[in-house]
This record gives sequence, C-alpha cells and structure tokens, in this order.
Amino acid sequence: MNPGGMRRYNAVRLTLIPTREAAEDGANQGRGTATSATATGPAKRPDSTMTRLEFSRAVLQKGMGFVPAELNCLAKPPGPVETFEVSFKNPQLLEKFRKIFNSSRSSPPYNKFKAYPLSDTESKVVTVNFHNECIQEYDIETWLNRYATIKSEGRKVLDEDQVWTGGLKWLVQLKPDPTGVGGVRHLSSTITLGNNRGSVHYYGMPKLCRNCGNLGHLAAACTACKI
Ligand SMILES: [Zn+2]
Repeated sequence: MNPGGMRRYNAVRLTLIPTREAAEDGANQGRGTATSATATGPAKRPDSTMTRLEFSRAVLQKGMGFVPAELNCLAKPPGPVETFEVSFKNPQLLEKFRKIFNSSRSSPPYNKFKAYPLSDTESKVVTVNFHNECIQEYDIETWLNRYATIKSEGRKVLDEDQVWTGGLKWLVQLKPDPTGVGGVRHLSSTITLGNNRGSVHYYGMPKLCRNCGNLGHLAAACTACKI
C-alpha cells in the first residue's frame, strides 16, 4: 500500500471502479436510494476520465463542500486505473470526507470510486493481555494475522521494575475497510484461545457496546433496552 515506507497523513486514495456495471448502476440509480440532490455532481460526464482540476472542483468542492484551503495536496498519479490521491490539512477533514463518502457511496459520483486510506493511522501498537504467562506467543500471532498484519516481533510488556506483566505487544497494520471506523477494520477487544480469554487494546480502538453490540459507546452509556 505504501511501499516506500513514507508516512502519509490524512490521506486517501480514490480509484475509479473499472467495471461497466458500476457506471451503469450510477446512471440508472439502482438500489433505490434517493439521489436527486446529487444531480449537481459530474454524473452526466462520460465517467471514464476526469481531470485533476475537475475532480477537485466537482467532487471535493461542489460535491462535498471542501474549500481549496482545506486540501493539502491533490494528485492524479499516472496508471491504467484512474486514481486521485487527496491529503487533507487535518484529521478532522479526512474524517469529514469519510463520513460524506460512506453515506453517499451508492450515489454518483461517489459510487464510481473506491476509497482506500493512505495514512499511517492503520498501524497500531496492539497489546494483548491474558494475565497468564502460559499462552503461546505463536497462538496470539496466528489470531492477529487472521484479522490484520503483524509488522514486528512480539515484545513483552514490562512493569516499572522490568517484570513481565503477562502482556505482549506487536506493531500491527489494520486492514482497510471503508465501512469501518476511521476507514479500517478494527480488532475485537477480546481474544479466546482454548479456555483462556484475553483482552486486546490499542490507541484509537472504537468503543464496542457489550449490551447492544453497536460501536461508538460502551454498555454504561447504552440507550437500548438491557437484555
Ligand atoms: Zn449499546
């Protein structure tokens, strides 16, 4: 995704979906979504090509309401698939982009694009704690690699006196998921290996309600009926 290893901030890549169905779906308004408001977008253009400036004005500015001063950089790298790479001036602007993009994904012009996060926000130091020294590091790594990609050796979590707490941590790259919080697929907060249950923590982990199963709040703040 980012082979050079450069850190990128608040950045997203949009690629034009090359299939004919995607274009037809956009033209015919499938899936029953109300889209009259999006007629101002570039939907009437032949959807094969859009210049960088057209994309900036029609999609980012007119379509999504960004102003040029909020954009750090907009590039259209050459390649067989039409691609735009946008970086925003701050994380809040990228989050605004994600919210608009995800809520309008079935409407033109957004339904012609796929969005991939480019920022390094999907790399996390993930701590797994079983409170038990017997759990095999290898088994935890197998679990982590099922949902994400491990990018470092496991390291023991030590206390102030350098005594191992039973916790282990890894640098882990989460997988992109346009529907996930922050554009990535998040890990479960619990891990079960055999009869042992452990906890999983990392910075930016979304709150998952144990009562209703929804993201964004914890059970203590849940407004759904208690089971
Ligand atoms: Zn809830």
